[in-house]
Amino acid sequence: MKVCVFTVGCKQNEVESASLRGGLEELGYETTDELGYADLYLLNTCAVTAEAERKSRQAVGRMRKFNPSAPVIVFGCASEHAPSAFEKKEGVTLVAGAMRKDKILELLSGRGVFRETETAFCELPRPKCTKTRAYLRVQDGCDRFCAYCLIPYLRGRSRSRALASVVAEAEAMRVKEIVLTGIDLASYRDGDRDLGDLLLALKEIPARIRLGSLEEGTVTREFLAKAKAAGNVMPHFHLSLQSGSDRVLRAMNRRYTREEFLAACAAVREFFPDAAITTDIIVGFPTETEEDFLQSLSIVQEAGFAHVHAFPFSAREGTNAAKLEDLPSAVKRERMGRMLRAAEEAESAYISRFLGTIRPALFESDGGYTDNYIRVFAEGAAEGKLCSVRLKERKNGGVLAEIIEEVSS
Ligand code: SF4
Repeated sequence: MKVCVFTVGCKQNEVESASLRGGLEELGYETTDELGYADLYLLNTCAVTAEAERKSRQAVGRMRKFNPSAPVIVFGCASEHAPSAFEKKEGVTLVAGAMRKDKILELLSGRGVFRETETAFCELPRPKCTKTRAYLRVQDGCDRFCAYCLIPYLRGRSRSRALASVVAEAEAMRVKEIVLTGIDLASYRDGDRDLGDLLLALKEIPARIRLGSLEEGTVTREFLAKAKAAGNVMPHFHLSLQSGSDRVLRAMNRRYTREEFLAACAAVREFFPDAAITTDIIVGFPTETEEDFLQSLSIVQEAGFAHVHAFPFSAREGTNAAKLEDLPSAVKRERMGRMLRAAEEAESAYISRFLGTIRPALFESDGGYTDNYIRVFAEGAAEGKLCSVRLKERKNGGVLAEIIEEVSS
């Protein structure tokens, strides 16, 4: 029996889908993640934006075109947020919500709707991974309730995977790079051990460790000292900013100021001088004035971001921000144009610092990444190879590099 596990949305969803495929294959199913003919469809949905929700709903219709008689099981954030939008669709036999994805395997033969609130971390089967890079889920849920975000309502309270379980999976992965993921990685806890302690526990793993998105508050000197002492943590920190204006940060219920954020960036550079600091910025949050926006523009240069993921505000029904008056689309569009130009300039400035220097880079099938997250392309680079490369010139959204030596195959 062929099962298609189709995913819409974020990296966390992709990791969870890969885990489910691993579990299904252990049960003897043939699986695919590409939308095509299948006997059963599992749809992992996303509700981060209205567009992601629309794509999630549309996916059911696309599945029905390939095989109108195959059942469709829907789970993930969009199915938690608006289950009825899926329940009424023809072919949908189960709408499982976002909390207990581990139950899907058990419930494959079930019918109807189940949803429940969960407080324990949901362990999923180990995802199948390539020999190069793998994602490792260590945390789920979020307690922060940012004004624009539905995630805490959909994925529930923050909960962490036991430290021993994370280490055991990392040991079994045998890959060159492990990316630790979570919805709010910063809140990782196992008893009194935090994310820094988890990094120390992973220091003997023979792989590069990269971190997913972090909140400013995690980046304390104590945390950075542990990350540095681990020795295998890559100098790349994704610190979610969202706005450079203190007034807008308060309206967003983000619990830091511009000054505190910049101090966190400075601390990162004290421990990891070449670190890539990347971020997310929301453009056109309700009530954002031109002056507020200029604060967001100026912090892009001031923080020296290596990459900015900027996106226009889109109201999510059920959040506090959705009750505020939206800015005109034309204003958001115009500000987005300026933000994307500022982001490109910052990225260029960051990359230029490293042209002519030698960095370690791990290659996949279509290029690779240096330790400090610069995308590189090099002639003769084979998948899974860790090489020392000299960065030569910018090309195709990355940097053309020359291999100096192979560090490991
Ligand atoms: S930290 Fe804020 S934006 Fe991120 S998942 Fe939690 S509530 Fe949403």
